[in-house]
Amino acid sequence: MLEGLKIENLSAGYGNREILKDVSLEAPEGELVFLLGPNGAGKSTLLKCAAGLLRPRSGRLLLRGRDIREASSRELSRLVGYVPQSMRPAFSTTVFEAILTSRLPYISWGPSKADLERTEEVIRELGLEELAFRYINELSGGEWQKVVLAMALVKEPILLLLDEPTSNLDLKHQVEAMRILRDLVKGKSLSAVITTHDINLASKYADIIVLMKNGRIHAIGEPHRLLDGETIREVYGVKVEVIRGASLFVSPA
Ligand code: ADP
Ligand code: MG
Repeated sequence: MLEGLKIENLSAGYGNREILKDVSLEAPEGELVFLLGPNGAGKSTLLKCAAGLLRPRSGRLLLRGRDIREASSRELSRLVGYVPQSMRPAFSTTVFEAILTSRLPYISWGPSKADLERTEEVIRELGLEELAFRYINELSGGEWQKVVLAMALVKEPILLLLDEPTSNLDLKHQVEAMRILRDLVKGKSLSAVITTHDINLASKYADIIVLMKNGRIHAIGEPHRLLDGETIREVYGVKVEVIRGASLFVSPA
């Protein structure tokens, strides 16, 4: 197994409040790791730590074997494509400019030919050609979510951290976004940690599911082995029925 992101005994919080408690997990290269758990479980906090935006109290985060604290913030922002839960800048630019500007950690004086080429490539990969010269404050929630994904991918990161990337997408766009993501992660051997509330989507696309509750890891495993009614009840406090077919279907019991 290739080493991607490795989190060891991480504890972190805000002020005096400890949120993450002794969290350990791995996101190997080429695999989609889905992070699930109820509101307030600490999923977003975990992604912030992995993005280098929140300093852990204790524990280590290793990216390809290297402690992320050794990387400069510029280097880290090249290596990590982090998409926060909801962000829409107040200022407006075109989609093309927003994506190009995300190459900033590579740019010294002005965008190079490579920056422009990579921007065009990502626009093609995500099928955003039609939107390229629209203004970002005039996009639908779903269109914006794709642009945000493009802003992360244009940096050619080795780690993707996506906080609820499909929450505003309709079914067709969810499936499309997940397929694009899966192809990229497999094709380029990226590591990816993705949070979602959609257990069915996670069970379809995840290689590994991590269940969190109260700032701790509750369980880790492959979707079909991990997700049964009992485990879901323990984590979410809801009685569910799990129907096993080609993919799992979880519905309230
Ligand atoms: P999740 O993403 O799983 O819903 P979060 O990581 O956002 O959970 O939040 C975990 C806990 O941390 C919650 O109790 C939340 O209120 C708290 N929290 C999140 N962000 C902050 C912050 N910036 N300052 C203080 N507390 C926060
Ligand atoms: Mg969250």
